[in-house]
This record gives sequence, structure tokens and C-alpha cells, in this order.
Amino acid sequence: MAKSINVRLPDVLPKVRAEVKKYQSDLIERIRTNGNWLTLPGLEIRLASAFGFCDGVQRAIEIAYAACHVFKGKRIWLIGEIIHNPDVNASLDSMGLLHLPWNIDGEGYDHLGPDDAVIIPAFGVSVKLRHMLEKRGVQLIDSTCGNVIKVWQRVRSYAQRGITSIIHGKARHEESMATASHSRGEDQSGRFLIIYSPLDAQILADYIVRGGDKSAFLAHFEGCHSPGFDPDTDLREIGMANQTTMLKEETALFQHMLRQAVRQRDGHDGHFHAFDTICGATQDRQQALLDLLDTAPDSMFIIGGYNSSNTSHLAQISAKRLPTYFVRDSDCFPDLNYVMAYNAESRREERTPLPTIAANLQSTWRIGITAGASCPANIIEGVIRRVAELRGCVIA
Ligand code: SF4
Repeated sequence: MAKSINVRLPDVLPKVRAEVKKYQSDLIERIRTNGNWLTLPGLEIRLASAFGFCDGVQRAIEIAYAACHVFKGKRIWLIGEIIHNPDVNASLDSMGLLHLPWNIDGEGYDHLGPDDAVIIPAFGVSVKLRHMLEKRGVQLIDSTCGNVIKVWQRVRSYAQRGITSIIHGKARHEESMATASHSRGEDQSGRFLIIYSPLDAQILADYIVRGGDKSAFLAHFEGCHSPGFDPDTDLREIGMANQTTMLKEETALFQHMLRQAVRQRDGHDGHFHAFDTICGATQDRQQALLDLLDTAPDSMFIIGGYNSSNTSHLAQISAKRLPTYFVRDSDCFPDLNYVMAYNAESRREERTPLPTIAANLQSTWRIGITAGASCPANIIEGVIRRVAELRGCVIA
């Protein structure tokens, strides 16, 4: 693999750090040092103990900003989105970054050449696309997160040993698509199957135990498996890996189901392998949310981009226990009667009623807040200030 260019150079980094300071927040730091609580008249704000930017996101943003300095005056392209946050992406757009579509094959990349600088986002790109970029001789700047690369190493090792990768992830998410491409191995003979839901895991487990209707199986997993996948032969030995941002408890459940299925079929689980590749930042944010939910606030706000996988999972966890609102930023709060929140079923932002306590200024409204790994602290501050303003509170 050709080396990418390091743009986080000693003379560039100080300028970049000054530019990305806008994503930080003094207020959030103050709340952190106060045990993650902010108490105002009639309003109690509780933050999770881990939330917002992870190291991988921080690094990817710095790389994108640094590329703008190092390649100033040149064409700088970004593949897809650097991370899934609309504010960060809009800010990069305003700096003149050009866009290339994220796709497996590099369709629409023919115009690129050695004069072009191309940034690979934090989720990474497919093996084929990377090779194509190298062949075209572009100046490659790689912000792929180290945790994603670890997953690739795992599935490549499965491929080398003839083991089929079972990837727990979203089939259309950039990271899972890139991981799937790595599971094909050097000679492209490796096999993969992407599962997402408990139903997917059940159908797979049942097929491992009993076999069944091959066409129905392939129809269910259409677009989620390697070319020529044959469940009768390709499920003899399987190894699990995850998209780094999946739900920890769901991945653990799927591992258990599939291990049991292999054991039931073979009498032992020697043909089942698992490696938990959910990244530490995702696990920390999920655990911190569970701890926050234990304190039973009246309402929960989950802040982040609606296409952010790790943020969606936080919203999913929270909604099982408390009234939960998945919001983008402070613009989602027109008044204390309703909020513009993302509805996972309709996949749209919708006008959603707030509980009556929100507008009742005689009672204390206790709200819990967390944010996904791609959400900047200044956005979280904006939400806190807006809610406080609506409740008539002043924050110094
Ligand atoms: S969420 Fe995890 S895998 Fe994704 S960028 Fe952050 S640290 Fe890396």
C-alpha cells in the first residue's frame, strides 16, 4: 500500500489547533469539572460522563484542516464526509474542499491525477478505491481511524485462514462496506456476510443449524454478502467482527447466538471465532449513557448528526428507558412545547411534543444530555444555552 502524506506537520498543527478551537466549549469544561451537572433555577442539566468527540474524529478533523494548509491553492477533494456531523462538514465546505462520492469502485474518479489532493475519511475506503487512487497518483491524505484499521486486520486474517467474516454492521455504511472489501483478502477469494438486526442473526443461526431454503436466505441478505456466496458451504467456519460503532449488547447477543448455532451443528465451537471490534470510545459513550439513565432524568436529549451510527445507537439505548429526543443542534428548540427531533422510523426530523414539565416553570425540569462521537462541544453548549434561555435561566 502506497504511503499517504502526513499533513499534521509541526509548523501546521498550531494553526490547525487554533482553527478547530471553535469546536470546544468553556461551558462544557466547566460542567465537566462540576461532576457533569449544572443546576440552574428550575432546570437541572446532567451530562453523561463520556460524550462528544472521540480521538479518531478529532484526528480526522485536524487532518482535513491541515490538508487545507499544506495543499493551499491546489484542488483538495474529500471522499464522502470526513465524519457524520453537518456543522463540521459545512465548515469544511466553506474552506473550499471539493467532494467525491464515497463508493466501492471509484466511479466518477477518472478526472483525478497527481495534482489532486484526496482526503480519505475516518471510516476509510474500500480496497479497490484505495488502489485506484494510488494508481492515479493522487496526493493521498488518510484520516482512517486506527480502530477501523484494526477491524480490517481482523477480517483479513479470517480470509487468510479460509474463515468467512460475519460483519455486524449496516450494509450501506461506509465503514462496513470498506471492512467487507478487506474481508475478501489479497486474492479476493474471502467471503463475508453483513448482519444488522436480531432477525438477521436469527435467520443466520437457523441456517447454520438446519440449513434450509438457500434462495430465501440469499434473498433476505441481498446486497449484504460477497459475490457467489453459498450458505451451504460458506458457513462452515465463521468469524465475527463489527462495525466499530454498533450496540455492544446486541453484538454480544449475536456472538452468543452464532456460537450456540455452530456448537449445535458441530458438537463444539471450534469453527466459530469472535473478536469484539466495537471501539473503546463507542463503548465508553454507551456505558456512560446507561449510568446517566440510572439517575432517571425527566427527559433525555441525544445530540449529533442524524446519519451518525454511534449517535443513533445512543438514541436507541436511551429511548428504551426514557422519553428521548435525538436533536441536531440548538435550532431544534423553537419553544418549550415541542422540539424538532429525528424519528428513526420515518427517518425524518419531526415536530415532537415535549413533556408538560418542560413548559412548567414552577417545577424543576431534570434533563440528561449526551452526544455522539462526532458531535463538537460547541454544539452541545448551544443546546444547553438554548434550553436555559427558554426556561428563563441565565448562564454566565
Ligand atoms: S467512533 Fe471509534 S472508530 Fe469511529 S472515529 Fe471514533 S474512535 Fe474511531
